[in-house]
Amino acid sequence: MPAIGLGVMQGTQRESEEAVLFAIESGYRLIDTASAYLNEKSVGEGIRRSGIKRSDLFITTKLWVTDYCTESTKIAFEASLRRLGTDYVDLYLLHQPVPTEFDKTVAAYKTAETFLSDGRARAIGVSNFSASHLERLMNETSIVPAVNQIEVHPFFIQKELRAVNAKLGIKIQAWSPLAGIHVYVPNSKDALNPHKHPTLVALGEKYKKTPAQIMLRWHIQIGNCAIPKSFNAARIKENFAIFDFELSAEDISSIDKLNTGVRGGPDPEIITTTTFGFTIDNSPQADDAFRQ
Ligand code: NAP
Repeated sequence: MPAIGLGVMQGTQRESEEAVLFAIESGYRLIDTASAYLNEKSVGEGIRRSGIKRSDLFITTKLWVTDYCTESTKIAFEASLRRLGTDYVDLYLLHQPVPTEFDKTVAAYKTAETFLSDGRARAIGVSNFSASHLERLMNETSIVPAVNQIEVHPFFIQKELRAVNAKLGIKIQAWSPLAGIHVYVPNSKDALNPHKHPTLVALGEKYKKTPAQIMLRWHIQIGNCAIPKSFNAARIKENFAIFDFELSAEDISSIDKLNTGVRGGPDPEIITTTTFGFTIDNSPQADDAFRQ
């Protein structure tokens, strides 16, 4: 799995398609989408326009919670493949644990195990799983998740959960790797601008890099894969230009110290199919709606 990928949440269809195309042209090989982002078809179109060989790309998509179980998971997976225009994904993730309906979460994962064995998913994994969710899942299933995609950035470093995953052999993929989740908090007086934090600005000056590049380099050096989202061509390029410098151990620990212990996203413990219960129309007739 590439260490850096493009995240494509929360854009228009046109933005998603153009960003995917531009990212591939700029050297990205990992694209992270989800059925819940409602842009798989645009992502597929960006990939198709790039002309890249399918085998040179790493495509991740995710199963939404209202499709958890067995039959609905099969239908949702096939709809994702169809919208993406591919016959396999490199990584298929359960988007969230549903703690109050964990039997369905387990059933969905067991169904994903069948996609792994029939080759339509090259790897399977989870997202937003805590240590106890992982334990519950692994007690009832046979394949260790390849990846746990969780919120990690300098302001929420998740040291303990990263250690648990490392012990289990599960790779951490950081969502909101640039702490973008903070700027999504509507009307919040406490909204942070991670790119203006004095520690990150000073490190940027020291290494002649931007605060974003400092954050992404920190991810790589602590062992995370990261999927920064940008729909801006210059920033897409900037986020990929992080392989020509190295942070010192001292600077890594000064970034670790920015941790607030406070997540920006929802606590996975409170996810239910009611609170996060929008449904996705997986019928072929709805595919075009994914491109409006
Ligand atoms: P992020 O990547 O940390 O931050 C994105 C924000 O930072 C956007 O506002 C973007 O604006 C800006 N940005 C990007 N590069 C920048 C740079 N070099 N300098 C300054 N600003 C920059 O946050 P995210 O979008 O929340 O997370 C990234 C991806 O993770 C998502 O797209 C999605 O694929 C995934 N994700 C997964 C989950 C999950 O539950 N599994 C949850 C959230 C996100 P511009 O577009 O204008 O550049």
